[in-house]
Amino acid sequence: MWGCGSYLFGWNGCSHTGKRYFYYKCKKACCDKTCKTSGIEKGILEGIVLDCIHDFLSDSSSVEEASAKLYEEQKRESPIGRASAPRGNRPRRGWPTS
Ligand SMILES: [Zn+2]
Repeated sequence: MWGCGSYLFGWNGCSHTGKRYFYYKCKKACCDKTCKTSGIEKGILEGIVLDCIHDFLSDSSSVEEASAKLYEEQKRESPIGRASAPRGNRPRRGWPTS
């Protein structure tokens, strides 16, 4: 989200010299024209995002928290995980022992 609270979208355009450039712009600024925020260059924004991710990952407690959440999410979404989960608790039957 950007200053106005709208999500950013990737855009590309050509400068007056004909050079192609890439940037992010909020939906309200680009489509609705209700926001005065200018676009931000792709490389600059992605550098900021990478710095934030690096900061986040350098804190070990947030890494543990994130991996726990990811694991929970994966268990919730994966049908393979769901199907194989109760197998260990199932009573064994079928084969006669004598
Ligand atoms: Zn905006």
